[in-house]
Amino acid sequence: MTQDLKDQARLTAYSRKTRKCSVPVNDQGKYLKVSQYYGENVYNYHLSKSLSLEDKDALKQVIDGKKTITKDLAAKVANSVMDWAITKGATHFCHWFQPLTGSTAEKHDAFLSFDGDRPIEALSASQLMQGEPDASSFPNGGSRATFEARGYTTWDLTSPIFIKEGANGKTLVIPTAFVSYHGDALDTKTPLLRSDLKINEVMTKFCHLIGMKDVTKVHTTCGAEQEYFLIDKAFYFGRQDLVMTGRALVGSLTSRNQQLEDHYFGLIEDRVLAYMQEVEIELYKMGIPAKTRHNEVAPGQFELAPIFKDANTAADNNQIVMTVLRTVALKHDFVCLLHEKPFAGVNGSGKHLNWSMSTDTGVNLLDPGHDPHENFRFLAVVATVVEAVYRHADIIRMGIASHGNDHRLGANEAPPSIMSVFLGDTLTKILESMVSSGKYVASARQTLDLGTRQLADIFKDNTDRNRTSPFAFTGNKFEFRACGSSASIGYPLSILNACIVDIFEESNQIMEQELASGKTSDEALMKVILKWYGNAQAVVFNGDGYSQEWVKEAAKRGLGNMRTTPEAISVLKDSKKTNVLLKTGVFRESEISTRYNVMLERYIKCREIELRTLRQMVMQQVLPAAMEYKSHLSQGIQTTKSAGGDTSVEVEILKTISGLVKDLHDQALVLHNNLESLHGKMDEETISKKIGAELMPASFQVADICNQLEQLLPDNKWPVPKFFDMLFIR
Ligand code: ADP
Ligand code: MG
Repeated sequence: MTQDLKDQARLTAYSRKTRKCSVPVNDQGKYLKVSQYYGENVYNYHLSKSLSLEDKDALKQVIDGKKTITKDLAAKVANSVMDWAITKGATHFCHWFQPLTGSTAEKHDAFLSFDGDRPIEALSASQLMQGEPDASSFPNGGSRATFEARGYTTWDLTSPIFIKEGANGKTLVIPTAFVSYHGDALDTKTPLLRSDLKINEVMTKFCHLIGMKDVTKVHTTCGAEQEYFLIDKAFYFGRQDLVMTGRALVGSLTSRNQQLEDHYFGLIEDRVLAYMQEVEIELYKMGIPAKTRHNEVAPGQFELAPIFKDANTAADNNQIVMTVLRTVALKHDFVCLLHEKPFAGVNGSGKHLNWSMSTDTGVNLLDPGHDPHENFRFLAVVATVVEAVYRHADIIRMGIASHGNDHRLGANEAPPSIMSVFLGDTLTKILESMVSSGKYVASARQTLDLGTRQLADIFKDNTDRNRTSPFAFTGNKFEFRACGSSASIGYPLSILNACIVDIFEESNQIMEQELASGKTSDEALMKVILKWYGNAQAVVFNGDGYSQEWVKEAAKRGLGNMRTTPEAISVLKDSKKTNVLLKTGVFRESEISTRYNVMLERYIKCREIELRTLRQMVMQQVLPAAMEYKSHLSQGIQTTKSAGGDTSVEVEILKTISGLVKDLHDQALVLHNNLESLHGKMDEETISKKIGAELMPASFQVADICNQLEQLLPDNKWPVPKFFDMLFIR
């Protein structure tokens, strides 16, 4: 970027006006309440005039998984959906799915059709139910040859159909699963749906065993808190690293960044607030219940949290949230960065997955109860979850592995790569004393007798919060905090669910045996609590997860700590560890190797793009700028010298810069050679490990020299926008 362009970018950014969008109003121009327009772009079959009551009932049974859909019913629904959509101005429909790219895919088709010569709108049953995208053009981990590259998208009835508005028209979006010709899942949704079915099966049984006979369905719930950065658009295209990789590969930290702790929950700037409001309006129309908005820890960082929903819809919703955050940002002359670590030195972005299980009778299985029996149930669920995280820590860690997340985990801003569970002092003491005494009396508070006082009341005023744990109990749910901000949550959720199902199957067996031998259901629950908590205590940690002591302590306890993606994904090659995914039916064997190949390939590709971009920035921007300044200094020294002036300072600076230029050139060359040598005889696994262990540290060294130069060069000689430009929104 020339200085002119940089100046222009700054001027543009400094003189931005706050954007006003159109706020929903009624025919008289009066503001609508959110509750009046919430979900207006979501298809609701209950409101359909063309579907009969029997149709609606049949559809409900299909959605509840009790029946499969008939072609006849699908045709009626297709008509009803299309009528609704075209009345609202939609011209096209699309099957919307989540391939293994981590984002979403869609192919639009017009409703336009012909009846003879007459143009009409049409949507057939088969168009609603099935699409046929070319699977070979999506990441498939080498699972299929091109000749059998057909893939199918199939309508997911459990996630609502909605309309997406564009500037000049609207599109009907049909959520679908994406599978191969042989039925292998090529997406994140299919395994998530399978895992939820298994949760339903196992947990309904659990409920029945303990006397909750009215329960007919249990599903997982999820609320995904989304963190993101905003920078002014004027600076974005001046940084090839941001455009190519989403991360600033070089850049020296501003003197004030987040150390004053003044951004978190701070006053939201007008321009940003206007952006958040427009995002929310868009989301409300599509039936996404955005609830919380606030500034995050780093300057330029923010968060949006929705009200939780069933996990499958929450996963779909989160994809839409990410899309809306990005597209609305552009209208406000921002660019929204969803990368896990856009700026070194300040916090990166994560996605907290709040997770629980709910019955169709409205019971949250992680809600501490109001009577002793409910408390037994609650404690048994907690103990089973603890065992699941303990036994399956490695595969859960694998589920959140990505090149972006490698920068966050364990970097003193996010939980480490060690999977542990935070329960808080009260709950830990209750469980510990149960295990040690074998009784249901806890001494958490001196006078606490859990037989008469209820856990729900204790947790109400128990404000225990721990921000440093990857998996924390937060009152009536677990919060899985280690997920990356750009990740699709379907993947970690499906893995977590599989692990929970696995242990609950054992819990159910234990309870069946106990009940068969004449024990009460509370006694059976007690057995489960003692067994799992007694076994898995090592994974419970309530202290500071960011500390070095914990890393040592965790090693002593035998807990895994896979720092990088190459290590974490190698778990997928360990059949002992992946068995849980197979035996619960959440993944097939071929799908596991597909995931391994895709994750490996993606890691290598993303890292190579970063390394090549870094090399280009060094060779084409940083070194030329530094050398130009060198020669500027040298000329100045000569001129001053010949005029008899003192040049000691210039000489000093020149020396430092010359040294750094030499270092930078040398290091960049080493990096270049290493990068070029990667694809010789090495297999991909070796390449990924070499990148993680050698090339990444080398690239940080290169970045470090660049940053030293940035601090020495005059501002007008630095070739790219700085953190100062990007982190503080004007
Ligand atoms: P905090 O901000 O302290 O993390 P909140 O109570 O604001 O906690 O909740 C954060 C997220 O957890 C929200 O998205 C919320 O909807 C979600 N959440 C609340 N209860 C549940 C639940 N039972 N299952 C899943 N998510 C939940
Ligand atoms: Mg939270």
